[in-house]
Amino acid sequence: MNASLEELLTSCRSYTDLGKVASYIPELQKSDPHRLGLCILSCHGEYQAEGDARVLFTVQSIIKPILLLQALLDNGVDVVRAHVGVEATGKPFDAINYTDQILDSQHLNPMVNMGAIAVCSLIHGGSYEERFQRLLALTRTLAGDAPIQVNEAVYRSEKSHATKNRALAYLLKTYGIIHDDVEEVLDCYFRSCAISTDCTGLARIGGVLANQGRCPDTQKALIPPEYARFVNAILMTCGMYDGSGDFAVRVGVPAKSGVGGGIMAVVPGRMGIGIYSPALDEKGNSLAGIRLLELLSQAMDLSIF
Ligand code: GLN
Repeated sequence: MNASLEELLTSCRSYTDLGKVASYIPELQKSDPHRLGLCILSCHGEYQAEGDARVLFTVQSIIKPILLLQALLDNGVDVVRAHVGVEATGKPFDAINYTDQILDSQHLNPMVNMGAIAVCSLIHGGSYEERFQRLLALTRTLAGDAPIQVNEAVYRSEKSHATKNRALAYLLKTYGIIHDDVEEVLDCYFRSCAISTDCTGLARIGGVLANQGRCPDTQKALIPPEYARFVNAILMTCGMYDGSGDFAVRVGVPAKSGVGGGIMAVVPGRMGIGIYSPALDEKGNSLAGIRLLELLSQAMDLSIF
């Protein structure tokens, strides 16, 4: 690599001026738009961090691949596929994934809101509290020694400003895709989105997905390799919503963004990458974060294509 990570990060700083922090969840508006951090964890456990790599932020939609992993661990591939589709939606994260036919589970993708809310109802547990605690425990297992907490203020802020997600969840219930109490399912979803970590946490989780389900530090198996492959495939096609094609061309690796400003990227067989920069583009993806990943991909030849 010619340019150092520090040089790459510095060259992307001005891009933080071009985006906007999310405001539809009021608490997220407090984020500093000029933050930019990066962490890389190789599949052999080598670790590099730069910039605001230790600033905590809420993962938001980056919990979706972990929700999917928990659902796969609890139910297996066949049951999960019977309840949620795998086709790219080409639509924004909060779209009604509705074709010209009746709303059907196969029209949902687990990387967009409707699909992820449906996936919450597949997690096993006697109560939604227990389901959330199991998800939190899996997140901690994947993240190793990185901080994993719940940001109560962001959770409450989203829960009290969630008319769109509420509408989507009630549609799921109306069409028989979820059967449980809608508010309980939503509560699990909002709390999941309010889990916070830093760039090291995203790099660690991405590192497990890149390393066929094994912890990059210890090589201990944390999830079955076929589930890591399943999740990575869906990240590639829908992880950046209606920006997934552009991202595939510019960066070329499976990744998941969140409106908190994080991006988790998975470079199969090589590394997990965690990025934080909360100024977003019009699709809700970190603007400087994507630029940084584009430069990294060029410098380190990361594209899988
Ligand atoms: N909690 C957010 C929402 O449901 C997650 C969206 C996102 O990160 N793109 O709106």
